[in-house]
Amino acid sequence: MKVLLHICCAPCAAYPVEYLKKKGVEVTGFWYNPNIHPYLEYRKRLHEVRRLSRIMDFPLVERDIYNLVPYLRAIINRPKNANRCDVCYHFRLTQAARYTAEANFDAFTTTLLYSKYQRHESIKRIGEELAEKFGTKFFYADFREGWSRGLKLSRKFKLYRQQYCGCIISELERFYKNADLVLEHFEWKPRRKKSVETKQ
Ligand code: SF4
Repeated sequence: MKVLLHICCAPCAAYPVEYLKKKGVEVTGFWYNPNIHPYLEYRKRLHEVRRLSRIMDFPLVERDIYNLVPYLRAIINRPKNANRCDVCYHFRLTQAARYTAEANFDAFTTTLLYSKYQRHESIKRIGEELAEKFGTKFFYADFREGWSRGLKLSRKFKLYRQQYCGCIISELERFYKNADLVLEHFEWKPRRKKSVETKQ
């Protein structure tokens, strides 16, 4: 069976690649993450995915396109109360599903299913919907079961481990203490009393 594995970053890919190979699956990696912020972080993560493909010996298809503006438009114009990450999954997995159908892979899957911090059920639903749309299959596996093994592998391979998911908003949420105030309208979060401090 030939499976296209959409890869969000190297540390999240190590366990799924090992898992699929052990099952006798022919794995091809697929890079398409056009919204990683900032651009130099994007390059760093792609560099690590390339390195992992050499270490674990699997071919890598690169959609090396920094498509930041369409992504930002998509999340800004999303329907009220639609989840930002669901829009992001859809954006990335659409390319994986399309390529799977065009290049005659049997199915596609994603390393997003490895992370304990992602919206697992949404990823599964979106993957299945896209598979149907493009006339292919979504290979579902709960890669979270290999969380510790994945950590072990990423340490062994000395992979760069980022501290936030990827987009500009996740970076803000990770490092800026008033992120929820900045994002209160954008993320439709309830208003807090405190105001944003602008003076240093
Ligand atoms: S937090 Fe991660 S999954 Fe959510 S929108 Fe940002 S990059 Fe995408």
